[in-house]
Amino acid sequence: MSTFSMHTHTCDELRPEDIGSMVTLTGWVWHRRDHGGLIFIDLRDREGVTQISFDPDNSGGTAFHTAETVRSEWPIKVEGVVRKRPEGMENPKLGTGEIEVLVSSIEVLNTAKTPAFQIEDRLEVSEDVRLRYRYLDLRRPSMMENMRLRSDFTFAIREALHKRAFMEVETPALFKSTPEGARDFIVPSRLQPGNFYALPQSPQLLKQLLMVGGVERYYQVAKCFRDEDLRADRQPEFTQVDVEMSFVEQEDVMAALEDVLADAFAAVGVTMPKPLPRLTYAEAMDTYGTDKPDTRFGMELHDVTELFANSKFKIFATAANSEGQVVKCINAKGAGRWPRSQIDKLANVAATFGAKGLAWIAFREDGSINSPIVKFFSDEEMEGLRAECDVEPGDLVMFAAGERILSCEILGGMRSHMAKAMELPLEGHDFLWVVDFPLVHWDEDRKAYAAEHQPFTQPEEADIERLESDPLSVGSHTYDFVMDGYEAGGGGMRVHNAELQMRILKLLGFTEEGAREQFGFLLDALEYGAPPMGGFALGLDRVCMLLAGCDSIREVMAFPKTSNGNDLMSDAPSAVGGKQLKEVSLRLL
Ligand code: ASP
Repeated sequence: MSTFSMHTHTCDELRPEDIGSMVTLTGWVWHRRDHGGLIFIDLRDREGVTQISFDPDNSGGTAFHTAETVRSEWPIKVEGVVRKRPEGMENPKLGTGEIEVLVSSIEVLNTAKTPAFQIEDRLEVSEDVRLRYRYLDLRRPSMMENMRLRSDFTFAIREALHKRAFMEVETPALFKSTPEGARDFIVPSRLQPGNFYALPQSPQLLKQLLMVGGVERYYQVAKCFRDEDLRADRQPEFTQVDVEMSFVEQEDVMAALEDVLADAFAAVGVTMPKPLPRLTYAEAMDTYGTDKPDTRFGMELHDVTELFANSKFKIFATAANSEGQVVKCINAKGAGRWPRSQIDKLANVAATFGAKGLAWIAFREDGSINSPIVKFFSDEEMEGLRAECDVEPGDLVMFAAGERILSCEILGGMRSHMAKAMELPLEGHDFLWVVDFPLVHWDEDRKAYAAEHQPFTQPEEADIERLESDPLSVGSHTYDFVMDGYEAGGGGMRVHNAELQMRILKLLGFTEEGAREQFGFLLDALEYGAPPMGGFALGLDRVCMLLAGCDSIREVMAFPKTSNGNDLMSDAPSAVGGKQLKEVSLRLL
């Protein structure tokens, strides 16, 4: 029996063993059926549904008369006796499907306007309407299930961390810029006119300072704020399970994380293998064309650079003979049956991944070949290709030629596109580590080196001497946690030496003064006996989205924002009055 409540049982609790008991239930009127002399209501609470029935012959008919007046989504409290449902009226889909409650008294706790949409899992209403009335949307059983899944998973991960001596520490939301590669949200200070706080993009610097402070094992279910253009799996504020450890090496951190994650997934019925498979960044790019591969399906990238070294097809030959360039392909089995018009459209898809065009060969079921490029291929090239890609009738081979990483990314993009387009079956969940990312990459827009993970990542020790002379060749102590083809988490070991940290900041384009101004507090702290440290952050929203089988993180957030960053329920962001602006010494442009 539940306690601390107006009811004796939830709407998912009563079973045949309870037949004959007097019970009190509370919940919302879901469906109401008037069967002439009898009224049935499906009473719904967050746990489930119980059928309650009203009979004019019961208790002088008062309850029956009230039941005639109640409408959908009114909250009510009923008292009655549990009885067996009549033969043939059972509902095997409901936990409570064998019983009903014959109501002797009913109390209407409130009335309700007719909702903008029916509280049903199958909805034919725009997401905007759902977000405008999110409090009604949350009443839908599938949403409540998502909320519960998230709560269970979060609780389990907290428990798993706590059990391993991690300490939960809160860090401030009003802080200084903490770069993770996005734009900051800024908050004007009233007490110091003209100065601003930045909302943390993650607690990165603070958790490193906690390690200097001796916390040794830290975690926090932390809100992070990044002012980015939004996509289905991005929101301006999101939650990370943030972790940091000190006096550790990379393998210690990864092993601890595997234990914690496996426990948390197990708590929601998902088995995560231990140890997790690992791919290096280079392997992941070369084999799958992405640093977050979904390995539940193959369609791996083939390197055919050598094969086309003397090709009459100029584009391939040029790439094959240029330093740092490749010719690669994937074989989408089955897509060779697609009509020409459908295959032609793939060039547009490839363009979204940065391709200038798409070379392809369709091997038709009747043994014929359809392709704009094979006329340039020699017999040896065709034979070599068939052998390398295990070609069969019905296959579609697609190529990319040029700079290695870009070519891999184009085919990686096509690989996921084709998997979706062909509806390849994806069984269960897929977990792996991608490790050994480069320390930096060249950012063409800014014309500067940018941190691949973030600016505080520990370089591979043996590569440190090349930090200035050949930065792109410097490796790092990094690991991404990939789930179902999403980057579900990431972390690394940190620089714990002030001098090295300054060298890296300079490599990233900071002047010494600029670095001091922004990160002086970190650089200072590193000079006071900072221990070796490393950590990780798990994207809680993304993981919950994948666990719930949804395709947007909005489905696992109680009050998400739209892609324009609006909260449709409260209408945030909204204008503030002149007085409020004046208080923080701001005037609008
Ligand atoms: N702060 C990093 C991030 O938000 C994670 C980490 O390195 O711990 O991606």
